[in-house]
Amino acid sequence: MPEEMIAIENINKKFGDTEVLKDLNGKVEKGQVICVIGPSGGGKSTFLRCLNMLEQPTSGKILFENSDLTLLNEGQINQLREKMGMVFQSFNLFSNMTVVENVKLAPVKVKKMADADAQKLAIKLLDQVGLADKADNYPASLSGGQQQRVAIARALAMNPDVMLFDEPTSALDPEMVGEVLKVMQDLANQGMTMVVVTHEMGFAKNVADEVWFMDGGVFAEKGTPEQIFEHPQNERTQDFLAKIL
Ligand code: ADP
Ligand code: MG
Repeated sequence: MPEEMIAIENINKKFGDTEVLKDLNGKVEKGQVICVIGPSGGGKSTFLRCLNMLEQPTSGKILFENSDLTLLNEGQINQLREKMGMVFQSFNLFSNMTVVENVKLAPVKVKKMADADAQKLAIKLLDQVGLADKADNYPASLSGGQQQRVAIARALAMNPDVMLFDEPTSALDPEMVGEVLKVMQDLANQGMTMVVVTHEMGFAKNVADEVWFMDGGVFAEKGTPEQIFEHPQNERTQDFLAKIL
């Protein structure tokens, strides 16, 4: 039996009178990689932010490891959020801290991990993203691709059960996109559960178990990469892919 990690049930989200997410449903199983694709303004970021309650859905349920996040108080949500790593388009590293200090901050502050243990963990994770040699550098001295890899290591430091990515390569110069996608692919190969909003169709084709095409606040079509990219059924999916491929 596949183990369910996240269940999205009838999620709606309004900003004022504007309906941004309309009755979304979905399931993310342990170890799955879901890629969410679709045109700008379609609701992808809002959807991802609802998964860890950075946005409160107007109605509906988000079950994470069998807890309904929409029913929890802020303290309980914060605890569960520790199990959900998030990586944004902008890296948001702390510029006044070195790379290794950035990575070990949350384990020390939130998990009360001993400094020496956090240091060891941080170096291990920096090694995993190919940046152990940059541990004592400041973020400003790193390229965008390197900074984003540090941001991934920092999210991994909390030992999350799922990683949420919102267009992690969109702010990067083209020559740096590959190194970040490689780290994400490695993570997927190691069995990490991932929900990835991306415009990188090659990544979605090669790495996703399922592709969810979002447009106008709905999942217009869901399927395997083969179904979505080779045989899209929905006209909107076909139009979108025709424009970008
Ligand atoms: P995507 O990530 O697919 O580009 P978004 O989730 O960012 O889409 O946005 C979906 C829609 O919701 C857009 O029309 C956007 O203007 C609107 N929106 C997003 N965040 C807010 C907000 N905080 N307040 C009002 N409208 C918002
Ligand atoms: Mg977005």
